[in-house]
Amino acid sequence: TVKEETQSLIKKDRDHVWHHISQYNDKSNPIIATEAKGAWITDHNGNKYLDGMSGLWCVNVGYGRNELAQAAYEQMNQMAYIPMTQSHIPAIKLAEKVNEWLSDDYMIFYSNSGSDANEVAFKMARQFHQQNGDFSRYKFISRYRAYHGSSLGALSATGQALRKYKYEPLSSGFLHVAPPDNYRRPLGQSVESYNVQRAEELEDKIIWEQKETIAGIIMEPLITGGGVLIPHPIYVEKVQEICKRHGVLLIIDEVICGFGRTGKMFGHMHFDINPDIITMAKGLTSAYLPLSITAVRKDIYETFKQNEDNSHFRHVNTFGGNPAACAVALKNLEIIEKENLTERAAVLGERLQNELEELKNHPYVGDIRNLGLLMGIELVEDKDTKKPASAQRVGKIISDCKAYGLIIGKNGDTVAGYNNILTICPPLSSTDNDLDFIITVLKKVFKQNES
Ligand code: PMP
Repeated sequence: TVKEETQSLIKKDRDHVWHHISQYNDKSNPIIATEAKGAWITDHNGNKYLDGMSGLWCVNVGYGRNELAQAAYEQMNQMAYIPMTQSHIPAIKLAEKVNEWLSDDYMIFYSNSGSDANEVAFKMARQFHQQNGDFSRYKFISRYRAYHGSSLGALSATGQALRKYKYEPLSSGFLHVAPPDNYRRPLGQSVESYNVQRAEELEDKIIWEQKETIAGIIMEPLITGGGVLIPHPIYVEKVQEICKRHGVLLIIDEVICGFGRTGKMFGHMHFDINPDIITMAKGLTSAYLPLSITAVRKDIYETFKQNEDNSHFRHVNTFGGNPAACAVALKNLEIIEKENLTERAAVLGERLQNELEELKNHPYVGDIRNLGLLMGIELVEDKDTKKPASAQRVGKIISDCKAYGLIIGKNGDTVAGYNNILTICPPLSSTDNDLDFIITVLKKVFKQNES
């Protein structure tokens, strides 16, 4: 029977496959997915799940898009590979297309993953300062709770200790400050004044570390995987102003926020800023093929041309910008535009927020927040003390949702205990019925978890 076949696959999986993060055991098995269409994944037993977590891998246009498969197929037939030491038509067209959406002129550097894109950003920032004669500017500041990738530099920038402590020593020169967490701001302080204060703390860090040692600041427009922490615009705008004043580059990580998720094409477009470097990945191809971009403002790029050894930037990446991935990205961006998925993210997000408003009365729901189609539901043990909900309570909601066919997740590891924020982010192409399903399941699951 299918069940027996599945059992045998699970055994082989246990024998041979080392999963990312999760440790499956006799009580919990990974989903062995065999098919996916729209917002839905089908497993080997024919069970269907709505992927309410897809926003963290950014399958923004949904699964099973024939146009994307076709684009990869045609490009692979036409020309499967050429290194980016040379060039090819999809890479050129894609760079032009991405630039159309950015508010300034950027040069596009291709690699494969979000981690890669951030590593490239760090190297470029250091080299940029060296070219300006600032040999001491090598440090980066990022925020606690943020995730920037798994390779050693990007992990060093990550602000989640559980992901890091077994792999130390990491790269030196990566510093962290607290992000604005508006729900947990001091009692009586306005959101605006609290956000100004958080930005000023960041400036203090620059000054105490000696500003001539700071190369850049890396941050997401909002902290996504680390708990959906949405800043007041004044925070981001002030950070940019501080960066400018101290000669520090502002690197914006759009790996999750980019390509429509937050209701604008890029998350930073919610703010009046003009980043020096922007990193993008996942949503660029809706996760159909690996591809990432480090976009560098033209005036910064120009300084690289002055290098006398004719090497603008010593960094190669064999598969970065490969033709099939670029062709898929182009088609993906065409779909996002044609189907107005950016606007749809805003509409669906607003509907989700309105319909789930009543969950705020639930004894363990402390806060519900969203930007576009990225929602965080913060669970607490006590609404007055805001003590983060226990891992069991959070895990129970996630597994009850899964039992009804809805996959949701929680934010990434923190030793400070903030693993209590449910993350809901279905594809931007989700139908109204898909959204109804998410809302119905969440209401049902919260109802059965009132005690
Ligand atoms: N930056 C952010 C904000 C991310 O969420 C991630 C991945 N979750 C990364 C960087 C790293 O991307 P990748 O897994 O493609 O290396």
